[in-house]
Amino acid sequence: MPELQTFAYFCACFMQPIQEIVPLLTSPKKIAITMHQKPDADAMGSALALSHFLQQFGHEVTVISPTNWARWVDWMDGAADVLDYETGKAAADALLDNVDWAFCLDFNHFSRTKNLAPKLASIPATKILIDHHEQPDVASFHYGISSPAKSCTCEMVYDFIVASGHRDKINTIVGECLYAGVVADTGSFRFSSTHASVHHMVAYLKEQGLDHTKVHEGLFDNYLENRLRFLGHVLSNRMEVFYDLNVALIAIPKTDLLRYGIKTGDTEGLVNYPLSIQGIKLVGFVIDRDEERKWSFRSKGSFDCNTFARTYFEGGGHYNASGGRDSNSLQQTVEKFKKVIYENKSILQ
Ligand code: 5GP
Ligand code: MN
Repeated sequence: MPELQTFAYFCACFMQPIQEIVPLLTSPKKIAITMHQKPDADAMGSALALSHFLQQFGHEVTVISPTNWARWVDWMDGAADVLDYETGKAAADALLDNVDWAFCLDFNHFSRTKNLAPKLASIPATKILIDHHEQPDVASFHYGISSPAKSCTCEMVYDFIVASGHRDKINTIVGECLYAGVVADTGSFRFSSTHASVHHMVAYLKEQGLDHTKVHEGLFDNYLENRLRFLGHVLSNRMEVFYDLNVALIAIPKTDLLRYGIKTGDTEGLVNYPLSIQGIKLVGFVIDRDEERKWSFRSKGSFDCNTFARTYFEGGGHYNASGGRDSNSLQQTVEKFKKVIYENKSILQ
Protein backbone atom coordinates (compact mmCIF):
# COMPACT_ATOMS: atom_id res chain seq x y z
CA MET A 1 0.00 0.00 0.00
CA PRO A 2 1.50 3.35 -1.05
CA GLU A 3 0.36 5.19 2.14
CA LEU A 4 2.01 2.55 4.32
CA GLN A 5 5.22 2.79 2.29
CA THR A 6 5.22 6.56 2.63
CA PHE A 7 4.69 6.25 6.38
CA ALA A 8 7.52 3.70 6.69
CA TYR A 9 9.81 5.95 4.66
CA PHE A 10 8.94 8.94 6.87
CA CYS A 11 9.72 6.94 10.02
CA ALA A 12 13.01 5.66 8.59
CA CYS A 13 14.11 9.22 7.75
CA PHE A 14 12.97 10.90 10.93
CA MET A 15 15.44 11.39 13.76
CA GLN A 16 14.58 9.13 16.72
CA PRO A 17 14.85 10.43 20.32
CA ILE A 18 18.37 10.28 21.73
CA GLN A 19 17.17 8.39 24.85
CA GLU A 20 16.87 5.30 22.63
CA ILE A 21 20.66 4.93 22.48
CA VAL A 22 21.04 4.89 26.28
CA PRO A 23 20.57 1.07 26.68
CA LEU A 24 23.29 0.60 24.00
CA LEU A 25 25.90 2.65 25.90
CA THR A 26 27.19 -0.30 27.88
CA SER A 27 28.37 -2.43 24.92
CA PRO A 28 31.78 -1.22 23.62
CA LYS A 29 31.80 0.51 20.24
CA LYS A 30 33.99 2.50 17.86
CA ILE A 31 32.79 6.09 18.08
CA ALA A 32 33.68 9.33 16.27
CA ILE A 33 32.61 12.72 17.58
CA THR A 34 32.62 15.76 15.34
CA MET A 35 31.46 19.37 15.45
CA HIS A 36 31.21 22.49 13.24
CA GLN A 37 34.24 23.92 11.44
CA LYS A 38 36.53 26.29 13.37
CA PRO A 39 35.17 24.80 16.62
CA ASP A 40 34.54 27.29 19.41
CA ALA A 41 34.49 26.52 23.14
CA ASP A 42 30.99 25.01 22.98
CA ALA A 43 31.79 22.77 20.00
CA MET A 44 35.16 21.60 21.32
CA GLY A 45 34.01 21.50 24.95
CA SER A 46 30.93 19.38 24.21
CA ALA A 47 32.91 17.01 21.97
CA LEU A 48 35.68 16.46 24.52
CA ALA A 49 33.28 16.19 27.48
CA LEU A 50 31.25 13.54 25.64
CA SER A 51 34.46 11.75 24.65
CA HIS A 52 35.70 11.61 28.28
CA PHE A 53 32.26 10.38 29.35
CA LEU A 54 32.03 7.64 26.70
CA GLN A 55 35.58 6.41 27.27
CA GLN A 56 34.55 5.42 30.79
CA PHE A 57 32.33 2.69 29.24
CA GLY A 58 35.29 1.20 27.33
CA HIS A 59 34.33 2.72 23.95
CA GLU A 60 37.07 3.58 21.46
CA VAL A 61 36.45 7.30 20.91
CA THR A 62 38.08 9.75 18.46
CA VAL A 63 37.24 13.45 18.18
CA ILE A 64 37.56 14.83 14.65
CA SER A 65 37.47 18.57 13.96
CA PRO A 66 36.62 19.62 10.38
CA THR A 67 39.32 22.33 10.54
CA ASN A 68 41.91 23.82 12.89
CA TRP A 69 40.85 25.64 16.06
CA ALA A 70 41.79 28.50 18.36
CA ARG A 71 44.55 28.33 20.98
CA TRP A 72 42.01 29.20 23.67
CA VAL A 73 40.55 25.68 23.55
CA ASP A 74 43.94 23.94 23.55
CA TRP A 75 44.03 23.79 27.37
CA MET A 76 41.10 21.33 27.37
CA ASP A 77 42.03 17.80 28.34
CA GLY A 78 42.17 15.70 25.15
CA ALA A 79 42.54 18.65 22.72
CA ALA A 80 46.00 17.44 21.73
CA ASP A 81 44.52 14.15 20.47
CA VAL A 82 41.82 15.73 18.30
CA LEU A 83 42.25 14.95 14.57
CA ASP A 84 42.21 17.94 12.23
CA TYR A 85 40.37 16.75 9.10
CA GLU A 86 42.16 19.26 6.88
CA THR A 87 45.63 17.97 7.74
CA GLY A 88 44.76 14.33 8.56
CA LYS A 89 42.08 13.48 6.01
CA ALA A 90 43.33 9.98 5.07
CA ALA A 91 43.53 8.75 8.68
CA ALA A 92 40.19 10.33 9.58
CA ASP A 93 38.46 8.88 6.49
CA ALA A 94 39.72 5.37 7.32
CA LEU A 95 38.50 5.74 10.87
CA LEU A 96 35.10 7.14 9.87
CA ASP A 97 34.51 4.20 7.49
CA ASN A 98 34.66 1.85 10.48
CA VAL A 99 32.91 3.63 13.33
CA ASP A 100 29.62 2.30 14.73
CA TRP A 101 28.43 5.70 15.91
CA ALA A 102 29.16 9.25 14.74
CA PHE A 103 28.08 11.98 17.15
CA CYS A 104 27.45 15.35 15.51
CA LEU A 105 27.65 18.18 18.01
CA ASP A 106 26.82 21.89 17.86
CA PHE A 107 25.72 22.01 14.21
CA ASN A 108 22.39 21.58 12.47
CA HIS A 109 23.46 20.62 8.94
CA PHE A 110 26.40 18.65 7.51
CA SER A 111 27.39 21.71 5.44
CA ARG A 112 28.59 23.33 8.69
CA THR A 113 31.43 20.77 8.72
CA LYS A 114 32.91 22.13 5.47
CA ASN A 115 35.12 19.49 3.73
CA LEU A 116 33.99 16.78 6.13
CA ALA A 117 30.33 17.07 4.97
CA PRO A 118 30.41 14.57 2.03
CA LYS A 119 32.20 11.99 4.18
CA LEU A 120 29.67 12.30 7.00
CA ALA A 121 26.85 11.90 4.50
CA SER A 122 28.33 8.72 3.00
CA ILE A 123 29.50 6.63 5.99
CA PRO A 124 27.32 3.73 7.21
CA ALA A 125 27.63 4.73 10.92
CA THR A 126 24.62 5.53 13.07
CA LYS A 127 24.56 9.35 13.20
CA ILE A 128 23.51 11.06 16.41
CA LEU A 129 22.80 14.79 16.68
CA ILE A 130 23.08 16.94 19.82
CA ASP A 131 22.57 20.60 18.92
CA HIS A 132 20.87 23.88 19.81
CA HIS A 133 20.72 25.67 16.42
CA GLU A 134 17.44 26.49 14.66
CA GLN A 135 16.03 24.36 11.83
CA PRO A 136 18.08 21.12 12.04
CA ASP A 137 18.33 18.89 9.00
CA VAL A 138 16.71 15.98 10.88
CA ALA A 139 16.69 13.70 7.83
CA SER A 140 20.50 13.39 8.09
CA PHE A 141 20.48 11.85 11.59
CA HIS A 142 19.23 8.51 12.94
CA TYR A 143 18.99 9.62 16.58
CA GLY A 144 19.34 12.93 18.31
CA ILE A 145 18.05 15.95 20.07
CA SER A 146 17.72 19.52 18.82
CA SER A 147 16.74 22.18 21.36
CA PRO A 148 17.19 25.80 20.20
CA ALA A 149 15.99 27.02 23.62
CA LYS A 150 19.02 25.47 25.32
CA SER A 151 21.96 27.73 26.19
CA CYS A 152 24.59 25.57 24.51
CA THR A 153 25.45 22.08 23.33
CA CYS A 154 27.46 21.53 26.52
CA GLU A 155 24.28 21.91 28.56
CA MET A 156 22.60 19.36 26.28
CA VAL A 157 25.47 16.89 26.73
CA TYR A 158 25.11 17.38 30.49
CA ASP A 159 21.34 16.70 30.22
CA PHE A 160 22.05 13.58 28.16
CA ILE A 161 24.54 12.28 30.73
CA VAL A 162 22.12 12.95 33.61
CA ALA A 163 19.20 11.33 31.74
CA SER A 164 21.37 8.27 31.00
CA GLY A 165 21.62 7.65 34.76
CA HIS A 166 25.42 8.02 34.75
CA ARG A 167 25.85 11.45 36.35
CA ASP A 168 28.56 9.93 38.57
CA LYS A 169 30.81 9.81 35.49
CA ILE A 170 31.04 13.64 35.42
CA ASN A 171 34.55 14.10 36.80
CA THR A 172 36.53 17.37 36.92
CA ILE A 173 37.80 16.91 33.34
CA VAL A 174 34.28 16.47 31.95
CA GLY A 175 33.15 19.38 34.15
CA GLU A 176 35.80 21.79 32.84
CA CYS A 177 34.95 21.03 29.20
CA LEU A 178 31.19 21.46 29.84
CA TYR A 179 31.67 24.67 31.80
CA ALA A 180 33.78 26.19 28.99
CA GLY A 181 30.93 25.82 26.51
CA VAL A 182 28.41 27.25 28.95
CA VAL A 183 30.54 30.32 29.68
CA ALA A 184 31.24 30.96 26.00
CA ASP A 185 27.71 30.48 24.62
CA THR A 186 25.92 32.38 27.39
CA GLY A 187 28.30 35.37 27.12
CA SER A 188 29.42 34.57 30.70
CA PHE A 189 25.83 34.05 31.93
CA ARG A 190 24.36 37.23 30.42
CA PHE A 191 22.30 36.09 27.41
CA SER A 192 18.59 35.34 27.77
CA SER A 193 19.33 31.63 27.16
CA THR A 194 20.83 31.49 30.68
CA HIS A 195 17.89 29.68 32.28
CA ALA A 196 17.84 28.42 35.86
CA SER A 197 18.86 25.00 34.51
CA VAL A 198 22.25 26.49 33.54
CA HIS A 199 22.92 27.66 37.10
CA HIS A 200 21.75 24.30 38.52
CA MET A 201 24.18 22.53 36.22
CA VAL A 202 27.08 24.80 37.18
CA ALA A 203 26.27 24.35 40.88
CA TYR A 204 26.55 20.59 40.39
CA LEU A 205 29.87 20.95 38.52
CA LYS A 206 31.21 23.14 41.36
CA GLU A 207 30.19 20.48 43.88
CA GLN A 208 32.26 17.98 41.87
CA GLY A 209 35.34 20.19 42.21
CA LEU A 210 35.21 22.39 39.08
CA ASP A 211 37.96 25.05 39.07
CA HIS A 212 36.02 27.75 37.20
CA THR A 213 38.87 30.29 37.40
CA LYS A 214 41.10 27.94 35.39
CA VAL A 215 38.46 27.74 32.66
CA HIS A 216 37.96 31.54 32.46
CA GLU A 217 41.72 32.10 32.22
CA GLY A 218 42.02 29.37 29.57
CA LEU A 219 39.31 30.99 27.46
CA PHE A 220 39.92 34.69 27.93
CA ASP A 221 43.55 35.20 29.04
CA ASN A 222 45.14 33.12 26.32
CA TYR A 223 45.76 35.64 23.54
CA LEU A 224 49.01 37.19 22.37
CA GLU A 225 49.80 40.92 22.40
CA ASN A 226 49.06 41.29 18.67
CA ARG A 227 45.40 40.42 19.22
CA LEU A 228 44.87 43.23 21.72
CA ARG A 229 46.56 45.76 19.42
CA PHE A 230 44.41 44.45 16.55
CA LEU A 231 41.29 44.99 18.68
CA GLY A 232 42.31 48.62 19.29
CA HIS A 233 42.85 49.15 15.57
CA VAL A 234 39.52 47.55 14.62
CA LEU A 235 37.47 49.61 17.09
CA SER A 236 39.23 52.85 16.08
CA ASN A 237 39.33 52.40 12.32
CA ARG A 238 37.01 49.66 11.10
CA MET A 239 33.70 50.36 12.86
CA GLU A 240 30.79 52.32 11.37
CA VAL A 241 27.69 53.24 13.37
CA PHE A 242 24.29 53.90 11.76
CA TYR A 243 22.42 55.65 14.56
CA ASP A 244 19.24 56.11 12.49
CA LEU A 245 18.99 52.32 12.19
CA ASN A 246 20.50 51.25 15.55
CA VAL A 247 23.07 49.22 13.64
CA ALA A 248 26.87 48.95 13.80
CA LEU A 249 29.17 47.40 11.23
CA ILE A 250 32.75 46.17 11.43
CA ALA A 251 34.46 45.15 8.19
CA ILE A 252 37.98 43.73 8.31
CA PRO A 253 40.10 43.63 5.14
CA LYS A 254 42.68 40.90 4.56
CA THR A 255 45.54 43.41 4.86
CA ASP A 256 44.63 43.91 8.57
CA LEU A 257 44.76 40.15 9.21
CA LEU A 258 48.22 39.95 7.66
CA ARG A 259 49.55 43.12 9.31
CA TYR A 260 48.57 41.94 12.81
CA GLY A 261 49.33 38.22 12.28
CA ILE A 262 45.73 37.23 13.08
CA LYS A 263 45.12 33.48 13.52
CA THR A 264 42.03 31.27 13.98
CA GLY A 265 40.16 32.40 17.08
CA ASP A 266 41.75 35.85 17.37
CA THR A 267 38.59 37.52 16.03
CA GLU A 268 36.28 35.66 18.46
CA GLY A 269 34.13 38.00 20.54
CA LEU A 270 34.96 41.18 18.59
CA VAL A 271 31.42 41.24 17.16
CA ASN A 272 30.04 41.85 20.66
CA TYR A 273 31.84 45.14 21.36
CA PRO A 274 29.52 47.44 19.35
CA LEU A 275 26.52 46.03 21.27
CA SER A 276 27.83 47.99 24.27
CA ILE A 277 26.96 51.26 22.48
CA GLN A 278 23.69 52.63 23.84
CA GLY A 279 20.77 51.85 21.53
CA ILE A 280 22.55 49.45 19.14
CA LYS A 281 20.30 46.50 18.26
CA LEU A 282 22.20 44.78 15.46
CA VAL A 283 25.89 44.30 14.74
CA GLY A 284 27.25 43.00 11.45
CA PHE A 285 30.85 41.84 11.47
CA VAL A 286 32.60 40.63 8.32
CA ILE A 287 36.08 39.24 7.73
CA ASP A 288 37.73 38.95 4.34
CA ARG A 289 38.86 35.32 4.44
CA ASP A 290 40.65 33.66 1.51
CA GLU A 291 37.72 31.45 0.52
CA GLU A 292 34.77 33.72 1.40
CA ARG A 293 33.59 36.84 3.21
CA LYS A 294 32.52 35.44 6.60
CA TRP A 295 29.73 37.30 8.44
CA SER A 296 28.75 37.24 12.11
CA PHE A 297 25.55 38.88 13.33
CA ARG A 298 24.50 39.73 16.88
CA SER A 299 21.30 41.39 18.03
CA LYS A 300 19.47 42.47 21.14
CA GLY A 301 15.76 41.92 21.71
CA SER A 302 13.41 41.28 18.84
CA PHE A 303 15.69 41.34 15.80
CA ASP A 304 15.94 37.79 14.37
CA CYS A 305 19.56 37.21 13.30
CA ASN A 306 18.84 33.65 12.14
CA THR A 307 16.28 34.82 9.55
CA PHE A 308 18.47 37.80 8.57
CA ALA A 309 21.49 35.51 7.90
CA ARG A 310 19.36 32.95 6.05
CA THR A 311 17.62 35.57 3.90
CA TYR A 312 20.65 37.59 2.81
CA PHE A 313 23.91 35.78 3.58
CA GLU A 314 23.48 31.98 3.06
CA GLY A 315 23.72 31.38 6.81
CA GLY A 316 21.77 30.85 9.99
CA GLY A 317 22.23 30.13 13.68
CA HIS A 318 20.24 31.47 16.60
CA TYR A 319 17.72 34.28 17.13
CA ASN A 320 20.27 36.74 18.61
CA ALA A 321 23.50 35.30 17.13
CA SER A 322 24.09 33.96 13.65
CA GLY A 323 26.62 33.76 10.86
CA GLY A 324 26.74 33.67 7.08
CA ARG A 325 28.91 34.13 4.02
CA ASP A 326 29.23 35.90 0.72
CA SER A 327 31.37 34.94 -2.28
CA ASN A 328 31.50 38.54 -3.58
CA SER A 329 34.21 41.04 -2.63
CA LEU A 330 34.39 42.68 0.79
CA GLN A 331 33.25 45.99 -0.67
CA GLN A 332 30.29 44.36 -2.45
CA THR A 333 29.10 42.43 0.61
CA VAL A 334 29.42 45.56 2.80
CA GLU A 335 27.29 47.49 0.26
CA LYS A 336 24.72 44.69 0.37
CA PHE A 337 24.61 44.83 4.19
CA LYS A 338 24.08 48.61 4.12
CA LYS A 339 21.24 48.17 1.61
CA VAL A 340 19.44 45.37 3.46
CA ILE A 341 19.59 47.07 6.87
CA TYR A 342 17.62 49.95 5.34
CA GLU A 343 15.08 47.41 4.07
CA ASN A 344 14.76 46.20 7.70
CA LYS A 345 14.55 49.73 9.15
CA SER A 346 11.06 49.29 10.63
CA ILE A 347 12.09 46.15 12.58
CA LEU A 348 15.22 47.86 13.89
CA GLN A 349 13.42 50.84 15.46
P1 5GP B 1 29.75 33.10 14.99
O1 5GP B 1 29.35 34.48 14.59
O2 5GP B 1 30.24 33.07 16.42
O3 5GP B 1 30.66 32.44 14.01
O4 5GP B 1 28.42 32.23 14.96
C1 5GP B 1 27.27 32.60 15.67
C2 5GP B 1 26.30 31.45 15.65
O5 5GP B 1 25.82 31.23 14.32
C3 5GP B 1 26.95 30.14 16.08
O6 5GP B 1 26.02 29.42 16.82
C4 5GP B 1 27.28 29.45 14.78
O7 5GP B 1 27.27 28.06 14.93
C5 5GP B 1 26.20 29.95 13.84
N1 5GP B 1 26.72 30.13 12.49
C6 5GP B 1 27.83 30.81 12.14
N2 5GP B 1 28.01 30.81 10.81
C7 5GP B 1 26.99 30.08 10.29
C8 5GP B 1 26.63 29.70 8.95
O8 5GP B 1 27.29 30.04 7.97
N3 5GP B 1 25.50 28.95 8.83
C9 5GP B 1 24.74 28.58 9.91
N4 5GP B 1 23.65 27.84 9.69
N5 5GP B 1 25.05 28.91 11.16
C10 5GP B 1 26.17 29.67 11.37
MN1 MN C 1 26.94 26.29 20.56
